[in-house]
Amino acid sequence: MPQLSVMIKPASSLCNMRCEYCFYHSLSEARETYSYGVMSESTALSIIKKAADFTNGAPLHFAFQGGEPTVAGLDFFKFFAKAVKTYVTKSKVTFSLQTNGLLINDEWAKFFAENKFLIGLSLDGDSENNQYRIDANGKYTTERVIRASEILNAYGVPFNILSVATKKTAERLDSVFEYYDKFGFKYVQFIPCLKPFGVDSDEYAMDENEFAAFLISAWQKYAAAFYNRKPISIRFFDNLLMMATGERAEQCGLYGHCGIQFIIEGNGDVFPCDFYCLDEWKLGNINDMSFLEIATSPRAKQFIEESLPVRPECKTCNFYKLCLGGCKRYLADLDYCKVMKTFFTAVLPSLHRIATFIRNSNSSHN
Ligand code: SF4
Ligand code: SF4
Repeated sequence: MPQLSVMIKPASSLCNMRCEYCFYHSLSEARETYSYGVMSESTALSIIKKAADFTNGAPLHFAFQGGEPTVAGLDFFKFFAKAVKTYVTKSKVTFSLQTNGLLINDEWAKFFAENKFLIGLSLDGDSENNQYRIDANGKYTTERVIRASEILNAYGVPFNILSVATKKTAERLDSVFEYYDKFGFKYVQFIPCLKPFGVDSDEYAMDENEFAAFLISAWQKYAAAFYNRKPISIRFFDNLLMMATGERAEQCGLYGHCGIQFIIEGNGDVFPCDFYCLDEWKLGNINDMSFLEIATSPRAKQFIEESLPVRPECKTCNFYKLCLGGCKRYLADLDYCKVMKTFFTAVLPSLHRIATFIRNSNSSHN
């Protein structure tokens, strides 16, 4: 039976923050229902039991996201973890949760530690860079997120930092890296700020030149840290090195086509991808269908099939093996190809040098 990764939105699009650039807010506004509310225990049980049937012993991963998933309350998560222990008897289960950190206290951290959660903490860098991330009362949040990181550290909960890369990040990358170094944040994922569908430009999202310059500058810092034997992890670059050393990437957008990620909204509705939790891409509801029925539904097949053709320019591109044509959502947002060509032209020799170094050191350890 296949392994399964499910992304659950237990509080739908509900959130205790009002980040100015929030893509899930603009996406939810484009749906008939903005928020499906907090997930019921019966929907959670449907997910757990059907996931156990589907995997039947293969690894099972539950990722929680939002909105802000902790808004669903700690009791929801305690119920979920207990039900997993009861109903998933054959599969190894892992958990992750993406949070803005505002509700994290000792009780939450203890729960995460006991249930071995991997946490993603959202933070865009120092207080100047993080200024778009304000709470529901319009207050800045940086200090509270740093406090959350300290609580997680105190309980030994592993976490990485998820940063939305904005125009400001591109301008102030040195300060952002210095800040992360100061707090010992070594595992970072940057996701480019996306414009709402159909919007040409806004004050947050990088344009093609800014995006390419950001990536090149971030790569230089990543490569320098590697050679200084103080490596940092930046997920996109880690994935490129995996591909350059012959492994398969683990990040969607680097597979050459879309996949079905089973994003489950508060009411049990299932969508193929976090970027496409839109009415038109609803695949079904987990209360009425099995994972197999959802994965093989006509709409799921269509979502994948639309992404399969390799574009003519990609077929002859020297960078195709590492780029694989890009993520459909980024392609809808900007001239992603221009960004990638500029980036790869600048960093490919350096990337291959590090890949060779890794390959050689792996073979000398075997
Ligand atoms: S749109 Fe991007 S993230 Fe979503 S499934 Fe396709 S490649 Fe993956
Ligand atoms: S750089 Fe452009 S042409 Fe080359 S593989 Fe990527 S998207 Fe295709």
